[in-house]
Amino acid sequence: MTKSNYIFLLVIISLCSSCRMGISRKAVEINNAYDKPNIAHVAIVGSGPAGYSAAVYAARFNWNTVVFKGPKPGGLLTETSEVENWPGKKSILGFELMADMERHARSLGVQCVQDTIESVNFNTWPFVLKTQEGITVHALSVIIATGATPVMLEVKGEDTYWGRGITTCAKCDAFFYKGQDVVVVGGGDSAIEEAIQLAPYARSITILVRKDRMRAAPIMQNRLSQYPSISVMYNVEVKEILGDGNQVTGVMLWSIKDRALKKYSTNGVFLAIGHKPNTQVFSSSVSCDNQGYIKMVDCRSQKTSIPGIFAAGDVEDGHYRQAIVSAGSGVKAAIDANTFLTEIGLNTHNKKLLESHLFMDNRLSGSIKEIRDVASFNDVLAAHNVVVVDFFKDDCPQCVEVEPIFVSIAQEYGHVATFIKVNTQQLLDLSGRFHIYKVPSIMIFKQGALVARYSAINKDQLRSAIEQSTS
Ligand code: NDP
Repeated sequence: MTKSNYIFLLVIISLCSSCRMGISRKAVEINNAYDKPNIAHVAIVGSGPAGYSAAVYAARFNWNTVVFKGPKPGGLLTETSEVENWPGKKSILGFELMADMERHARSLGVQCVQDTIESVNFNTWPFVLKTQEGITVHALSVIIATGATPVMLEVKGEDTYWGRGITTCAKCDAFFYKGQDVVVVGGGDSAIEEAIQLAPYARSITILVRKDRMRAAPIMQNRLSQYPSISVMYNVEVKEILGDGNQVTGVMLWSIKDRALKKYSTNGVFLAIGHKPNTQVFSSSVSCDNQGYIKMVDCRSQKTSIPGIFAAGDVEDGHYRQAIVSAGSGVKAAIDANTFLTEIGLNTHNKKLLESHLFMDNRLSGSIKEIRDVASFNDVLAAHNVVVVDFFKDDCPQCVEVEPIFVSIAQEYGHVATFIKVNTQQLLDLSGRFHIYKVPSIMIFKQGALVARYSAINKDQLRSAIEQSTS
């Protein structure tokens, strides 16, 4: 046998043995679960196609299944318009497809929890997952399906003008650019999607591509010819985002061919330059590759480096990144979790013993009044000392992300401030009056005057903004 044949044989043997990798019975002992509260047989982190497909399968295997929807409920598909490559549906809105998946999962008894996993302990079993809202769940198996997040340009002006002319979501914000000139940065399918979303609103849309060609699928590129307001500029890199202190006014472009900088006027910058996997919470526990994607231990399953922890979708797949592939890997992960739970001896008898320990999400969703006319809005401002307003728009994924933060803070501070919601599409007068260019926009009013506004906010920032306004 030659040396190269010998090495080849060793690789095959090691691959085959990893395919058969068993479960450490020492670490995982069902008796360890009996004294734990808030048990989930299968905890799924993330609510995109991978998460919900896994949930449907896990629930049909008869496991108690909990989905933690995370900061972007429904995942990135909620940001695309028509999905035309989901077999069986010639065309469906991304938002609707995800709502259907959630309904399907719920109909099978899956709990879909509006909360985000903030930390995990995978060195113990049952695995421990802690949420932003302070819930601790003990999971017998976990499927990580947290997807990926849009990449930012990281150029000067991006932080300053974020939410004031820069966005990653045309579906949410195209509406605010009626009759204006905008650019879309990127050369992939997302860039084309964003441009097409903008076409009914903006006067002109220029796609800025850094190479001499687009990476997008030919069928997507061909579609651009139907939109005379969309043009493509090749060989340009955005070096800076320019503004007048309030709003974006242009971008500084580096022309690769001319080797020169030039100013390009625009009212809006839509970023579509790819994604990075959402593994921050897990990367110190499970093995990831050098780009941050979770590594599968073998080629035939969704097993991670820890038995009982599985991963599915864009969080482990930097190559295919298609909703249908994610859904398929979610199904594989659920089948793997089913095998794991069966192998550790979870059966009808001990499931019964764990029944009273199962996690139930009993939190109230809180009631926040939606204001539907300008007169009522003015009345609320006049009648209350501090008013916190969530300006939103239907079908806006980033608005859905802010919702749980707003609800939670409203419950906490409802005694010192009044919380209301306004649909910007219904109350256009208010969009104009408060110069709203991005939803969600959270605004705080004190004695009728606007004292603070945010287009992106976390719980701590909203908490401290309200404390400042009420002090
Ligand atoms: P991609 O990774 O496919 O494309 C990213 C684009 O951004 C590339 O053209 C890249 O340029 C460019 N880019 C990256 N960094 C920069 C930068 N700093 N400045 C300027 N340009 C930059 O990401 P997408 O989000 O477009 O797509 C992700 C996946 O989702 C793909 O598989 C795609 O097919 C799929 N998708 C499918 C859709 C559909 O079928 N309807 C819709 C949207 C996405 P370069 O080419 O030079 O590297």
